[in-house]
Amino acid sequence: MSDNLIISARDVKKTYNTGKVIVPALRGLDLEVRRGEMVAIMGPSGCGKTTLLNTLSGLDSIDSGLVEIDGQDLFKMSDRQRTAYRAANMGFVFQFYNLLPVLSAAENVEMPLLLDRSQRLKPKQARQMALDALEAVGLADQAYQRPAELSGGQRQRVTIARALVNRPAIVWADEPTGDLDSKTSQDIVDLMRKLNRENGQTFVIVTHSEEIGLQCDRIVWMRDGMVETPAGNLAPIPVPTPASANGAAVAVPAI
Ligand code: ADP
Ligand code: MG
Repeated sequence: MSDNLIISARDVKKTYNTGKVIVPALRGLDLEVRRGEMVAIMGPSGCGKTTLLNTLSGLDSIDSGLVEIDGQDLFKMSDRQRTAYRAANMGFVFQFYNLLPVLSAAENVEMPLLLDRSQRLKPKQARQMALDALEAVGLADQAYQRPAELSGGQRQRVTIARALVNRPAIVWADEPTGDLDSKTSQDIVDLMRKLNRENGQTFVIVTHSEEIGLQCDRIVWMRDGMVETPAGNLAPIPVPTPASANGAAVAVPAI
């Protein structure tokens, strides 16, 4: 495995059993994501995109297969280790990860810092980091407003600030622009791109919008619980040839 890979999933299978029906949601999923990539996951409704995010982040279990994050086998960890690992290394922009209505934007954003005990932050430090994250998403002036006092786009910015406040290596986003108008959607994508470039964080973004997909480094297409191309469409890393190392012109074959 290249140490350039931050996510490596091999033959991941996941079946939901509701008691009435058995749904094979992932049927042998392979995915590789390089550190610092911004990847879009696309595919028809029900093809397993949300299940991919839930399992590869360790929020939900898998039936079989291998998930390595930064070279570590996610499902060899105990539940407790995995929860701590997630708190320290992952951020989530999920629709169902709702903001808490009784808390201000700043209090919502500082939540992951308080949950991540490895940081041992003092309340004042956590608050300052939350305010910095809100400033980064353009909400410095709304820090003490509650979610109900914010627009849909502003609320989504708060969830992004919350996902990014502890500078996680990986950010998982599930249709982050789902309910937003096209201008606000574009602002959110620009913001994620900026944070990706400036901080080198890896983004895995599920989206229905091909326009958004095309702004990512790569689109991974899913169908029927699998990635359409093996190894998650990861193109081989070009290896310099001896001729190019000498500075001679090299004809690059069309792929
Ligand atoms: P997508 O996000 O691409 O729309 P999902 O990952 O949500 O797809 O779902 C994949 C399949 O698994 C679908 O057939 C869906 O109905 C089913 N599914 C998802 N979550 C559950 C669950 N908690 N219980 C039972 N079936 C589920
Ligand atoms: Mg979904």
